[in-house]
Amino acid sequence: MIEFEHVSKSFSGLEAVKDLSLNLREGAFSVLVGTSGSGKSTTLKMINRLVEHDSGIIRFAGEEIRQQPVLEMRRRMGYAIQSIGLFPHWTVAQNIATVPQLQKWSRGKIDQRIEELMALLGLEPALRERYPHQLSGGQQQRVGVARALAANPEVLLMDEPFGALDPVTRTALQQEMSRIHRLLGRTIVLVTHDIDEALRLADHLVLMDSGEVIQQGTPLEILSHPHNDFVRTFFGSSE
Ligand code: ATP
Ligand code: MG
Repeated sequence: MIEFEHVSKSFSGLEAVKDLSLNLREGAFSVLVGTSGSGKSTTLKMINRLVEHDSGIIRFAGEEIRQQPVLEMRRRMGYAIQSIGLFPHWTVAQNIATVPQLQKWSRGKIDQRIEELMALLGLEPALRERYPHQLSGGQQQRVGVARALAANPEVLLMDEPFGALDPVTRTALQQEMSRIHRLLGRTIVLVTHDIDEALRLADHLVLMDSGEVIQQGTPLEILSHPHNDFVRTFFGSSE
């Protein structure tokens, strides 16, 4: 679904991503994990071209991303991030409807979709006309994910979407994401530095350090056959 071939990216001389090759399969829940500054967010943002790569090839659905009209491609990708970015003067319903409205869906279809997504993410119908500042952090995160899912994207890209939450809400949202993934079978790419979260959610786990992939595979493969001491220490420290 998303393929990286020898992709590199530097910011003013600093190599954030080095010769990265990755295959993020259709329908898989892929998780990029690693220490701070290891290049996870940069990798994610190169997929929807919020960051342009310097060299190598990135493909989405079999086609090089630079050959595709960027807005059209982004419409096929939902994007949710830690700082949420909800529009403060818009209600929950209006926030969720952002992309369907751009795509000129009918009012009836939009209303139905809002209802569906709020139910899917465990947001009570009574919250529909509230503004973001009238919601808890966890509710805001759920609205952010609902918004990203609104127009049925083929891929959901998420960067630390549960980062600022308390452990209980965080676990609840992780379970919600797992359920949504099983239910919709959508391709998901999640960035996190939370090892437990990564192990819990990933079908395909990618461990990065200093802009490089250190090891990738299923959580079981990585835990049972760590390639080196870095991998061992990284996952060992979660216990
Ligand atoms: P974190 O877990 O802290 O979010 P990360 O793995 O997501 O880290 P990136 O944000 O991808 O890391 O950053 C990788 C490297 O690239 C870092 O050294 C960072 O300072 C640098 N970097 C990222 N974005 C920019 C930018 N826009 N301008 C300059 N340097 C950047
Ligand atoms: Mg990051």
